[in-house]
Amino acid sequence: MAISSKTERVLETLRKEFNGRVKIDVVERVLYEKDATAIPIETKTPQAVIFPTNKSEVQKIVEILYNEDIPMVPRGGGSCLTGGAVSLRGDEVIISFEKMNRFKIDLDNATVIAQPGVITYQLQQAVEKQGLFYPPDPSSYKYSTIGGNIAENAGGPRCVKYGVTRDYVLGLEGVIKYGEHFKFGAPVMKDVAGYDFTKFLIGSEGTLGIITEAILRLIPLPKERKVLLAFFDSLEDVGKAVTKIMTSGIFPSALEFMDRACIKAVNDYKNLGLPENKVGLLLIEVDGHPIAVQEEVMEVAKLLESMGVSVKLAKTKEEEEKLWAARRALGPAISKLGTGKVNEDIVVPRSKLAEYIPAVERLAKKYNLVCAIFGHIGDGNLHVNFMFDRSNRDDLERVEKAVEELFKLTVNFGGSITGEHGVGITKKPFLKLQLGEVGIELVKGVKKLFDPKNLFNPGKLVDV
Ligand SMILES: Cc1cc2nc3c(=O)[nH]c(=O)nc-3n(C[C@H](O)[C@H](O)[C@H](O)COP(=O)(O)OP(=O)(O)OC[C@H]3O[C@@H](n4cnc5c(N)ncnc54)[C@H](O)[C@@H]3O)c2cc1C
Repeated sequence: MAISSKTERVLETLRKEFNGRVKIDVVERVLYEKDATAIPIETKTPQAVIFPTNKSEVQKIVEILYNEDIPMVPRGGGSCLTGGAVSLRGDEVIISFEKMNRFKIDLDNATVIAQPGVITYQLQQAVEKQGLFYPPDPSSYKYSTIGGNIAENAGGPRCVKYGVTRDYVLGLEGVIKYGEHFKFGAPVMKDVAGYDFTKFLIGSEGTLGIITEAILRLIPLPKERKVLLAFFDSLEDVGKAVTKIMTSGIFPSALEFMDRACIKAVNDYKNLGLPENKVGLLLIEVDGHPIAVQEEVMEVAKLLESMGVSVKLAKTKEEEEKLWAARRALGPAISKLGTGKVNEDIVVPRSKLAEYIPAVERLAKKYNLVCAIFGHIGDGNLHVNFMFDRSNRDDLERVEKAVEELFKLTVNFGGSITGEHGVGITKKPFLKLQLGEVGIELVKGVKKLFDPKNLFNPGKLVDV
């Protein structure tokens, strides 16, 4: 889309103010046209990309754009899997937080104040040097940002024990509406002053406003970790084992599942020698004080062995790393199973897993699709991957039908259509399945309150 004369005038004003940090050259803009979404979606090249360096610059940008009716898309690392960080209409301006990547640790309060563009892994490395811990660990942690993690309420393997991003955000600062500044929360553990707007903005996917600063909670870094793998002959037993472990009085710091397709995919990809005659495996990690960890990992092993499940305990740090390598290799390994992959991050109550996993396998069979299931099973959060051939229209149609049926199945099991990746554009048509008419009306009402002109990330999460 060509830049309109009004936008050109506004961008000229911003260019003067921001001195080279407003990119309008098409070669630079086109780099921001996509995020990591695998499903084919129609995106447009944004009108411009702006790189603020501090919160008052963000406020100024929003004030100018909002008053001139120019829509904007906030963007962190661009690792969104649901089309949240892209331009859909072509008249949007991207606000990129690449240059807002500073943070300050407050040791006395065990908190950190972070700008939105801080890479999650970099913050984690810095706090761990001080003996502190910021647990939220999306697999994208080496390139996704604190702002993006907050906007998506990201989670990862450790969330089974430590909770998701929401559980570590004590306060937020940002901009809504015509450039109005908000500041909610404080570096304190208790705060019940009115509605909890901090928590409300978490997971809002850039549709309510722009986050410019976050106060994050830190906890002591666990001193020891131990890992074991358990191999299963029946999927029902996997579900039963998860329930047994989670009710045993031991809280694992990770409880991850891979089905047979995943085991084979990582073996082919990394030559790991995992047993391919098994229907699935669990990777279980326990952390805490070294003495407790040693006892707890043995207790988990005994519990599994009493169910007739074979177990492999990592004896050294290298072996541990090898077991985790199998889990980390999953994304690229599975991608080799087809030219296209749809990865749905559904969640069901843990007690329903034994029934749910075989139901998903039957669904994949019904649509004749290669399906690979893995995920944070301790949370009931599974990544269901349907593989397809990108050049085959029929394949894509079968995937679309299977995805719709998967979401219906998940909601019928009392679960959620997304535990991690958010709604964005790809799950927007299915949100009503979960929230119902009343829920959708409330979402629209809230959106209108924060963003009366529908200029923050328009077209994402809900249509207004
Ligand atoms: C290989 C891979 C693995 C992944 N694994 C996981 C996983 O384990 N768990 C998980 O939860 N997710 C995972 N994701 C999804 C993705 O990484 C997360 O959603 C992440 O939080 C996005 O962060 P980002 O910085 O890349 O944000 P972006 O992709 O840039 O943006 C994501 C959303 O946040 C909004 N946004 C960004 N910054 C701001 C801001 N400052 N203010 C307001 N809104 C903002 C954007 O508009 C967009 O809607 C994975 C993605 C990939 C590619």
